[in-house]
Amino acid sequence: MRPTLTFHGAAGCVTGFCAELDTGEARLLIDCGMFQGSKTLKALNYGDFPFDARRIDAVLLTHAHIDHSGLLPKLMRAGFKGPIFATAATRDLCEVMLADAGGIQEAEVRELNRRNQRRGRPTVEPIYTARDAARLMPQFETVRFDEPRDLAAGVTATWSPAGHILGAASIMVEIASETGPLKLLFSGDLGPGGSDFVAEPRAPAGCDYLILESTYGDRERLVADAVARRSELAAEMREAHAAGGPLLIPAFAIERSQELLMDILAVMDSGEAPAGDVFLDSPLAIRATEVFLKRGWNPTTGRNPFEALRRSGRLRYLEKPAESDRLERLKGWHVILAASGMCDAGRIRRHLKRLLWRRECTVLLSGFQAAGTLGRILAEGAERITIQGEEVRVRARIRMFDAYSGHADAAGLTNWALARRPIGGHVFLVHGEPSASAALKTRLGEAGIAPDRLVIPQMGDRFALHGPALEALPAGPRRIAPDAAARPDWHNDRTRLLLRLNAALDTAPDDAARAALIGRLASILGDAGDR
Ligand SMILES: [Zn+2]
Repeated sequence: MRPTLTFHGAAGCVTGFCAELDTGEARLLIDCGMFQGSKTLKALNYGDFPFDARRIDAVLLTHAHIDHSGLLPKLMRAGFKGPIFATAATRDLCEVMLADAGGIQEAEVRELNRRNQRRGRPTVEPIYTARDAARLMPQFETVRFDEPRDLAAGVTATWSPAGHILGAASIMVEIASETGPLKLLFSGDLGPGGSDFVAEPRAPAGCDYLILESTYGDRERLVADAVARRSELAAEMREAHAAGGPLLIPAFAIERSQELLMDILAVMDSGEAPAGDVFLDSPLAIRATEVFLKRGWNPTTGRNPFEALRRSGRLRYLEKPAESDRLERLKGWHVILAASGMCDAGRIRRHLKRLLWRRECTVLLSGFQAAGTLGRILAEGAERITIQGEEVRVRARIRMFDAYSGHADAAGLTNWALARRPIGGHVFLVHGEPSASAALKTRLGEAGIAPDRLVIPQMGDRFALHGPALEALPAGPRRIAPDAAARPDWHNDRTRLLLRLNAALDTAPDDAARAALIGRLASILGDAGDR
């Protein structure tokens, strides 16, 4: 049998990465990520996997981010019993992240079920619980960078640093096939380089197929060195202080948050930014920080830069929800970091609900914001939003600050890909919104990779791999319309419409005008709307 490669997630969108490699003798998953973004996309997390989890022999994990690892406990619940191969840092981070993700789902489902019961709707189950996440951990087997590992019959894989977050890797998978050995290189998420605690991205050159992420395939970022980045941050903090404070930072718990935190403390200590209390309001980020203290050693200096977090007298760790609640009474200048980074879950939502209407508050968005998330909606300048069903006017200052992103930009992705040549077969561009993947395709074409070798797969697309040749096979059932993954969905549209309706009613000159507007809308809805 010819080996096949199927894309089950992060194809046509940025989240939910999951690729299935069937060698004929072994069936492997590369990552098993959770979908984030619009409700339509997140609904995929609740549905059945488009494959039989009991027949997967092993998972090869690139890194711990939830959009790459977040459905592993669900995979176990669906009957997967095999090993999960990952670096030690990825394993340690998964232990804290998956337990946290399970806890968030339990809490959100409790809240949702209360609403569903009041509305007379059926209740739902969490995708998995914190306990499921703990039960999964014995299935992890750790691998070392640059050491080839035999994983299954005819399959060898090697992990190399991807420079993205602690433990993150690109994975070269070598398989035996009818036409001879085949090499597939999965980039994983690639970092920009220049980090103080993760190795520079490197991977071997020469493969048959390259599976390349394209998150920032359409963006050039000014490459800021550590000093420039710090002074930009200090300027943002000074402006936030001048506006009256506080400063709210939706935090990617394990991306560059720990670095951001170190710089916030440093610029306060040096006097470049006004000093004040700094709250890390994320149990996950607190536990992740412990992993960084254990594993975040600079390979050259042998020092652990995160030690600075231990020494600071300004930093307060908030573990319990009651401690988070007490922030409500705080006045004046202070800084709060709370997860999640795209504002689609976690404690940040409650802070946004209580602070977004206040002009003196500043919200600093510090990384990639997927389509349909609250973070993206704020970034695009919405004047009113809803959080947990409640309408909130946005008067806070919304600032974008991308200098701490863990992703390579378009030039970085292109250079990394070119350094992997010779590439005998095709390059699959995944893990990007359609415009980003298309822009990277153009760029790689201009850089000398033949355009017919550049493929942008959709979710469910399946390919047979023969030597360097490629054959598209009939795709499995589409779980989502090909163009639906990366745009706001009808839930977003409904919210916008309701907000517009409320605004129109608020500003109507009198009750007669309001009654006329409601009458016109009711007539469109017809009889169904009268009930
Ligand atoms: Zn990532």
